[in-house]
Amino acid sequence: MKLILLGAPGAGKGTVSKLLTAIDGSVQISTGDILRGAVKAQTDLGKKAQGFMSRGELVPDSLIMGIMEKRLQEDDCQKGFLLDGFPRTIPQAEALNELLLKLDIKLDMAVNLDVPRETIMERLTTRRTCSNSSCQEIYNIKSKPPKVEGICDKCGSPVVQRDDETPNVIGQRLDSYNEKTAPLANFYEKEGLLKSVDATVTEDVINFIKKQLQS
Ligand code: AMP
Repeated sequence: MKLILLGAPGAGKGTVSKLLTAIDGSVQISTGDILRGAVKAQTDLGKKAQGFMSRGELVPDSLIMGIMEKRLQEDDCQKGFLLDGFPRTIPQAEALNELLLKLDIKLDMAVNLDVPRETIMERLTTRRTCSNSSCQEIYNIKSKPPKVEGICDKCGSPVVQRDDETPNVIGQRLDSYNEKTAPLANFYEKEGLLKSVDATVTEDVINFIKKQLQS
């Protein structure tokens, strides 16, 4: 499958993508995960991105398109991909259209995960993430705690609260989302690719996507 997952921070894009990869071997491409890995490794990209990320602002489109142009041409994308957290702006969506045209790739759909704002705030403040940049498994201290407190079930690394998941930075990320990313729903509606789903319950989202892909 070749999908874009749209939705606010905390809507469940990462969790849904990880579950979908198990269906047909499509890969999850999370620009957030790639950027956090680059910040941790202090690569050029990481150094350029870290200030924006720690303030909860979007990283410039040119840096993001540089990542995506390379990533979409890697062999593991042949089976399909789930774009998680990209595109985040109209210019990114336009650049993605050009890139897909150049690579002769057709998207199946853009799925908008709809979750009430109170649920988003609750999820983001209780979310914890594996600190190992090649794992980044997602936990929740209330609904999905690791088996051993503070330790990732999958890789044994410490599970931490992300720097950008403090109440102030969360507020800034949601503002960026409302201003720059929410208009993408309209963009993909016009492209005839948009499907919206109530994403309060993850399983409902997976069933919805499976059904859409079959029809
Ligand atoms: P995420 O894990 O998707 O919530 O992303 C974490 C942070 O990485 C965001 O708050 C942005 O600073 C940055 N980021 C991730 N994806 C993008 C993108 N497509 N465009 C711009 N900034 C991004």
